[in-house]
Amino acid sequence: MNIAIIGGGVGGLATANALLRKGFKVQVYERAKVLRPIGAGLSLTPNGLNSLNAVQPGIAQTLIKAGSPIHTLILKRSTGETIASKSMEIMQRYGQPMLMIQWSKLQAILASVLPPEIIHLQHRCVGFEEQDDSVKIYFPDGKTVQADLLIGADGINSVVRQRIIGDEFPNYAGRMSWRALVRYSHKQLSPNATTVITSSNGQNSMLMDVGDGYTFWGTSALSADDYVNRRATDAKTHVLKIFAGWAEPVGAIIAATPAADIVERPICDRPPLDRWSKGRVTLLGDAAHPVVPSLGQGANTAFEDAYELAECLAVAPNIEAALNAYENSRIPRTAIIYDRSATQGYKAYQPDSENTFTEMMKPSFRSQDDFEAWLYRYNPIAQKRKVY
Ligand SMILES: Cc1cc2nc3c(=O)[nH]c(=O)nc-3n(C[C@H](O)[C@H](O)[C@H](O)COP(=O)(O)OP(=O)(O)OC[C@H]3O[C@@H](n4cnc5c(N)ncnc54)[C@H](O)[C@@H]3O)c2cc1C
Repeated sequence: MNIAIIGGGVGGLATANALLRKGFKVQVYERAKVLRPIGAGLSLTPNGLNSLNAVQPGIAQTLIKAGSPIHTLILKRSTGETIASKSMEIMQRYGQPMLMIQWSKLQAILASVLPPEIIHLQHRCVGFEEQDDSVKIYFPDGKTVQADLLIGADGINSVVRQRIIGDEFPNYAGRMSWRALVRYSHKQLSPNATTVITSSNGQNSMLMDVGDGYTFWGTSALSADDYVNRRATDAKTHVLKIFAGWAEPVGAIIAATPAADIVERPICDRPPLDRWSKGRVTLLGDAAHPVVPSLGQGANTAFEDAYELAECLAVAPNIEAALNAYENSRIPRTAIIYDRSATQGYKAYQPDSENTFTEMMKPSFRSQDDFEAWLYRYNPIAQKRKVY
């Protein structure tokens, strides 16, 4: 089977690897000129690492060496006082760490296992047409390619999704985010630690060690509109102004970051769908189930999708059966993660957000523990799937 993946983000790259390992012919079409990190850093959790390892045994170890496993979570007020600190026993409980990694390193590791000739850069999909026994995919300048199956892994503003679902723009969650990666040292920044800083006026900040002396910082704030500054210097001025007066190192680390490295984005999601596929076309990752980033699950669940889709295609008698099995396995789980991300994301920006975070730091926070176990214990190899 010839499979075309639209989008060479982390979901598309992981899916290409999973499909190649099952013996499928795969081509990846990416609109960008070069494979560029679209974010600064991200957290990989045991479910995501288990899924990548199921695709390619040993890759989790390579990623762990490239990133920083988080052992300590610290909660602070914007005035600088520490509210709570807890040791993260993720590795001991789930057999994989909570891993912070630079986006570019994750992307390079995922791309390094693919034959370079299957990645077609500067290929922006503008549409497709289903034919009797194939899909014709359109690019600008009249170029077309033919595939047996089309996978839309083209992110939250997916063109493929628009054609099969047609639900227009994502939902703006009422918050803007700024994030960047910077080589920076400060006595308040410790190796293998993540610091969450909260305030009562709908603003939050996170400082995360990603290894090699780099810190990944992310800040977000309630904002009535989702305006993105055209000039990088304006975005930097804006975020510096919002977080002025916060205890160091928040202001200092933003000030030390080159403006061009700061990613300014609205926080968005889309409500869960009942179907992700139509005919020979399906969706994966953010194209299928984008969530607000409160649990750090977007990329992790894209890796779950990657393994599952390849597995269903490998064992099902035909494409229709494979896509049904893929949806039956993935939609219920990602819908739960959507709900939890949306609720937690909303609460984190309310005036009593300090109480919300403090509750979550307590060992007695059972509902969080149960959810965490359900989320992180996921290992696709152990999943029972029905393929008819
Ligand atoms: C502030 C923030 C923090 C986050 N933190 C985390 C985290 O800690 N952990 C985590 O797991 N997730 C996190 N996420 C979510 C994560 O970034 C996404 O879920 C993840 O990138 C989804 O991967 P994807 O491959 O599906 O889509 P994307 O990463 O969006 O990749 C889509 C790719 O498709 C390409 N493309 C788009 N349109 C076309 C087209 N028409 N033709 C060809 N190519 C196209 C794009 O150029 C891009 O390369 C965060 C998100 C945000 C906003």
